[in-house]
Amino acid sequence: MNYYGNKVSKLIEELTKLPTIGGKSAQRLAFYIINMPKENALSLANSIIDARENIKYCPICCNITDSDSCIICSNPKRDDSLIMVVEEPKDMVAYEKTKEYKGLYHILHGAISPMQDITAQDIKIKELLNRLKDDKVKEVIIATNPKIEGEATALYIARLIKPLGIKVSRIAHGVPVGGDLEYVDDVTLSRALQGRQPL
Ligand SMILES: [Zn+2]
Repeated sequence: MNYYGNKVSKLIEELTKLPTIGGKSAQRLAFYIINMPKENALSLANSIIDARENIKYCPICCNITDSDSCIICSNPKRDDSLIMVVEEPKDMVAYEKTKEYKGLYHILHGAISPMQDITAQDIKIKELLNRLKDDKVKEVIIATNPKIEGEATALYIARLIKPLGIKVSRIAHGVPVGGDLEYVDDVTLSRALQGRQPL
């Protein structure tokens, strides 16, 4: 039954499409939004539109950006002989917070997962290989999450890169198995980076 009218029902329906938001949460959020001061609700709606319309992938590292290349690739002080491969932009942010790493990144936007039908073609591996065509890159550090998917992706990438004569390493111990990089503290991440092992 549509007790709230079409417009509120539509809002609830849209919110239900977000991850971890079930029907009850969607209803709670919808009522929170319609009771917000009008300018706050409009500002929320506009920032969704603005972010979605103007966001693109950095043509170099596939990070999310709203300019031609991302903030890291466009920084001439970064060491372009090093590429750290991560699954998601938030993993890059976690490493940036350590202030330890001065190289570039490559964002895969996922990991290979046969269970979820995600293949190597579905993530940004081709783009990574394209970056290795000139002789600039000396080492690729694979910092995918230490879960089954992340490990499988690391091995897959290592197998492709090794024949190119480029050093491939994997971030070390300290990152808990099955863990999410996002939630690992800075010191642990720094140690994992320093203790990286050749693959
Ligand atoms: Zn970039």
